[in-house]
Amino acid sequence: MTKQHFQHDIVIIGGGMVGAAAAIGLAQLGLSVAVVESHQPQPYAAEQPIDVRVSAISVASENLLARLGALDALWQMRSVAYRGLETWEMDGFITQFAAEQLKMSHLGHIVENRLVQLALWQQFAQYDNLHCYCPARVARLVRACNGIEISLDNGSVLDAHLLVGADGANSMVRQWAGIGVTGWDYRQSCMLINIATECDQQDVTWQQFTPNGPRSLLPLPGKNASLVWYDDAQTISDLRQLNHKQLKQAIDKHFPARLDRNFEVVDSGSFPLTRRHAKQYYKDNLVILGDAAHTINPLAGQGVNLGFKDVDALIDVIASAQKTAQRWWDKPTLQQYQHKRWFDNQLMMTGMDLFYAGFSNDVLPLKLARNVGLKLANFNNPVKQKVLKYALGLA
Ligand SMILES: Cc1cc2nc3c(=O)[nH]c(=O)nc-3n(C[C@H](O)[C@H](O)[C@H](O)COP(=O)(O)OP(=O)(O)OC[C@H]3O[C@@H](n4cnc5c(N)ncnc54)[C@H](O)[C@@H]3O)c2cc1C
Repeated sequence: MTKQHFQHDIVIIGGGMVGAAAAIGLAQLGLSVAVVESHQPQPYAAEQPIDVRVSAISVASENLLARLGALDALWQMRSVAYRGLETWEMDGFITQFAAEQLKMSHLGHIVENRLVQLALWQQFAQYDNLHCYCPARVARLVRACNGIEISLDNGSVLDAHLLVGADGANSMVRQWAGIGVTGWDYRQSCMLINIATECDQQDVTWQQFTPNGPRSLLPLPGKNASLVWYDDAQTISDLRQLNHKQLKQAIDKHFPARLDRNFEVVDSGSFPLTRRHAKQYYKDNLVILGDAAHTINPLAGQGVNLGFKDVDALIDVIASAQKTAQRWWDKPTLQQYQHKRWFDNQLMMTGMDLFYAGFSNDVLPLKLARNVGLKLANFNNPVKQKVLKYALGLA
């Protein structure tokens, strides 16, 4: 195979939601950017069933997507705004967050992951300085004198000052760089179940804690919803063996009365829950972001929102370095990126773990204490507003 060499300022491995967002943001700085992605996203058609992989994206993430020019395309496909977020364990001890408390029209949107990626990919054509190698995988990475040489399995060889690993939780870029992780596998898995309901479109997402794990509902466009069932890995594995009718019966038995029982199961998928945090986000001429850098318990729907904050931070530090004519791929800039993001991600991950652990036992005094806590947290006060702003990526 003849090898073709291409020079880029930045090569991003992984064109998922985070890698695609980074590609556009960095191309907007006038840099020559390449994205290497192994799977071509499937074009959208309105009659396609709703994918089970959905995310609750925050207002801060929406703001980033707007700056990248992808938000209108996303709204033209499918999404649903949610205006309320409710959580409880024992009936009567509920905490409710509402968009009005922050004088906002909504708290975020529920979107299919693949449509966020697609909306971003549709923007690629706007940039002559953005090249996409797809389908392609990395065959070899080699350090060169002024950057990194990336050989692809299609015979192309890319030279870059900066390599960006946005290649997901099992990041080969992170592993190649020898960046270690701390983390563990939670003893839980989670099942996402799309249902067709008889109710009109919902705009509140809710979650009930049980000692076995939370049971949640995310509204989907039209008369649809996504149920999220956290449980031990064996229970989730058993649920996977059920047909749609049997799965509905199991849901009827294990979900709170809040769920209207007039629904049908349409689709489902299951995911193990892992927690990984890279010990550092950069090495010479290389950074990692998104799930390549951190995977968080999906309990509070923060994973891709944190990834988008990484993207924002990387664009920001590189833009600042450009203004002062620094070599933006050198250590001081990459270090600044890590400084902006590592502790924020660690804080959110630890917060989620404490929350998760706090609700994972059934000892009566503790149960009562946390339910009184939820009840007290329901009063509208500055602390509640602060928590909500933080969850929305606005603080
Ligand atoms: C059950 C569940 C529910 C979730 N709910 C939410 C939620 O409500 N809100 C939220 O914010 N987050 C949520 N998340 C987390 C969110 O899905 C992830 O944080 C997000 O998908 C990470 O995006 P990414 O682009 O970093 O990685 P990925 O989505 O994993 O993308 C990585 C990309 O890299 C490509 N790739 C990998 N290796 C290579 C290679 N060697 N060469 C070329 N290409 C490669 C892959 O094909 C892929 O396209 C949830 C996660 C789970 C498991």
